Amino acid sequence: MGDVYEKAYFDNQIVSFSDANLSIASSAVLYGLSVYTVFPISVTKNNERFAFRLPQHYERLVNSAKIIGMDTFISQWRYEKFLHVVHELVEANNIENDAYVRVSVHVNENIAGTRSRGLKTTLSMFIYDAVPILKPEGCRLKTSMWRRIPDSAIPSRAKVNGAYVNSVLAKQDALDSGYDDCIFLDINGHVCELSAANIFIVRDGVLITPDSTSDLLEGINRKSMIEIARGDLGMEVVERSIDLTELYIADEVFTTGTSANISPVLEVDARKISNGQMGPVTKKLQKIHHDMRHGRHKLHKNWLTDV
Ligand code: PMP
Repeated sequence: MGDVYEKAYFDNQIVSFSDANLSIASSAVLYGLSVYTVFPISVTKNNERFAFRLPQHYERLVNSAKIIGMDTFISQWRYEKFLHVVHELVEANNIENDAYVRVSVHVNENIAGTRSRGLKTTLSMFIYDAVPILKPEGCRLKTSMWRRIPDSAIPSRAKVNGAYVNSVLAKQDALDSGYDDCIFLDINGHVCELSAANIFIVRDGVLITPDSTSDLLEGINRKSMIEIARGDLGMEVVERSIDLTELYIADEVFTTGTSANISPVLEVDARKISNGQMGPVTKKLQKIHHDMRHGRHKLHKNWLTDV
């Protein structure tokens, strides 16, 4: 993670980052009862600042809160207020380089027991330098012995902090084995996602990604790349179950995510993907994705919000 900027937003005001603290008795700390999202801010040469797909990030945060039952957040916030706070915080920190904004909604009530409804919620926001978690030149992945938590246990569709213990276990295991990240299989043994990124494969010119009922996070970049590949590049895109062995013999494999970006997967479980180099579809989408986030692509300018 990159360096954190000095000002944060916490409990309805801008404060010093070091003053934005939760109680050790809060449900957020005791049970991991917070939901979150991370969105990117890209800074152009002319010092314009763009947030990528901000309304979608807000919507996913609200949906996460809805799934978990954090109803006070839903009743107290609106997109307009959220946007205003983003502007305020970006201004307070005078962002000059690409950055990530982490927004969390915490259940901030002490000793509330294992419940979620009717409790005080606190929104926090902080900004940090955009250091990608996977390299744009490529990454090596290891299939995890840990399975993705099923929707029937902790829904991945809700981006809830506590569930990330699952990601930590799998990612650390991959790092311990000398890989860059893990591949999660779902409970039925199908390919699901990475610790914090979605996955795509290319086979015979068709772009394939696990469907959104495979216990994965519905990534905003996943959806964006599907729309671009299908709508703008005219590619056939299929959302379906993927077997692990399909990864081994795919023409291309790549990731999507806010912090992972589009990273070509060059090796899985000690098997090279194709010739171990970035493939043409990945290269094209990586460039579109990067240019688009920086306002340099003619398509979908309305996916950017000035901040
Ligand atoms: N899956 C998981 C588990 C994640 O944490 C992330 C990162 N938010 C993603 C996928 C990618 O989602 P997005 O494209 O919205 O960043």
